[in-house]
Amino acid sequence: MVERSDTEPREQNQTLRQSILDCLEEGPVTARELSGLVHIREKDVAPHLEHLEKSLRRSGKRLAIEPAECLQCGFRFEKRRRFTKPSACPRCRCQRIDPPVFRLAPQDQSPA
Ligand SMILES: [Zn+2]
Repeated sequence: MVERSDTEPREQNQTLRQSILDCLEEGPVTARELSGLVHIREKDVAPHLEHLEKSLRRSGKRLAIEPAECLQCGFRFEKRRRFTKPSACPRCRCQRIDPPVFRLAPQDQSPA
């Protein structure tokens, strides 16, 4: 059984992204939770979220990110606008990072 995302038909990706969107409609989720819910690898979640963020602009919603946070010193990755989990804290080098949480928000709610 070989799974190669670069050869997947476009329809399959759209169905997948609809499933991710459905999960986000239910409430805030992490990439790991999404990977389990829609049955893809955690590292494959980020590209789909990037695509969703673009397509959401037309629907009046946006993808909001609760920043990842270091479990040791409490450092928050506020500046980070990527969808992947950071591997280590820049302040204390701790690798126990609370992952970013994704949710849908109204578009007029600008990020702080
Ligand atoms: Zn830290």
